[in-house]
Amino acid sequence: MSDIITCPSGLTGRIRGMKVREERILADRKLAKSGGQMDELLAACWQQTQDVGPYDFGKSDIDWGAVLQGDRFYALLQIRAATYGSDYAFAVPCENEACRARIEWELDLRDLPVRSLSKASRTALVNGNRFEATLPDAGKRVWFQLLTGADERKLPKVRRHAGDRLLSALLAFQILEIEGVEPRGKRAFVEDLTLRDADFLVDEFDRVDCGVDTTIEIECAECFATQDVNLPFGRNFFLPGKERTARRRDRSNCFRE
Ligand SMILES: [Zn+2]
Repeated sequence: MSDIITCPSGLTGRIRGMKVREERILADRKLAKSGGQMDELLAACWQQTQDVGPYDFGKSDIDWGAVLQGDRFYALLQIRAATYGSDYAFAVPCENEACRARIEWELDLRDLPVRSLSKASRTALVNGNRFEATLPDAGKRVWFQLLTGADERKLPKVRRHAGDRLLSALLAFQILEIEGVEPRGKRAFVEDLTLRDADFLVDEFDRVDCGVDTTIEIECAECFATQDVNLPFGRNFFLPGKERTARRRDRSNCFRE
């Protein structure tokens, strides 16, 4: 089974569902650690590029390292849907301390809101992936980039080395240049930003980006409390059979109690 999909940036191509041989990719711990799993899955299931959208892949059909995170994630969702259908079931614990019931939830992946890359963002991406913003408190201009597959692979290392300074590490990672600040002064400048400026930047990164919104509101069937959850996309997302096994195990544990 194969489908033509158009990613949020306009990148268009033909995908197919996963085959048994792709379980090797999902089971490979080394690949999971290096963050190469998603690249391998995309490479295996993306059959042909029909429109490169805002990208320039040179002579290659596609280079997933150069593709925006939003597009990559959208393509993975579609590959999952092409493999098992677009229904996705998961379970999370109720946030209400007094309840803690297991909330079973099911949704149609096609219903998740998708934000396309705007015309202005497309232009900035094509012109070297360089976006401009002016910090409200510091009054300085900064230039930043949208994250691609290659950046995604560097993120685990950035997080590991960040210690308790994760926010400034992530901001500095995405910022290319700050007006009137030497490159080696970047990290110190970011550490010194007001939290309002930092918050503004995070919003700005998000505002100009494209992708799938994966925050959904769910309601507990026991206590009727509602909560926002970020869709869990673990290994079960691509191998739902494991989730099925876990559910059965849970049920048999219940019977024993
Ligand atoms: Zn509850």
